[in-house]
Amino acid sequence: MAYVIGASCVDVMDRSCMEECPVDCIYEGERKLYINPVECIDCGACEVACPEQAITVDRKADPEHRADNRRFFEEVLPGRDAPLGAPGGAGSVGPLGVDTPLMGGR
Ligand code: SF4
Ligand code: SF4
Repeated sequence: MAYVIGASCVDVMDRSCMEECPVDCIYEGERKLYINPVECIDCGACEVACPEQAITVDRKADPEHRADNRRFFEEVLPGRDAPLGAPGGAGSVGPLGVDTPLMGGR
């Protein structure tokens, strides 16, 4: 299980959730953020921190966004030559500057 970020984060990206995450598993795309489903420990801290109510536990999330959050880490993003996988923390990776095709990534 993992938490999932939905469409209401798009173009908001205030990063309140990132500040609360104890394992730094919320990664920054160009227009929204994505939770790494492998690294998330399901603590729920990000859900209450989000002013847009964009974050939900995966069993309650929109299936399209649940799959899309996973895709951000499992598929090769534009401009990269390998999937992101589980790099162990967003701080070491920094903003990715790209999104999944669902979110308008190229
Ligand atoms: S549920 Fe906890 S571990 Fe998972 S992304 Fe949110 S703050 Fe991070
Ligand atoms: S707190 Fe909510 S709106 Fe802000 S960046 Fe995180 S998911 Fe997006």
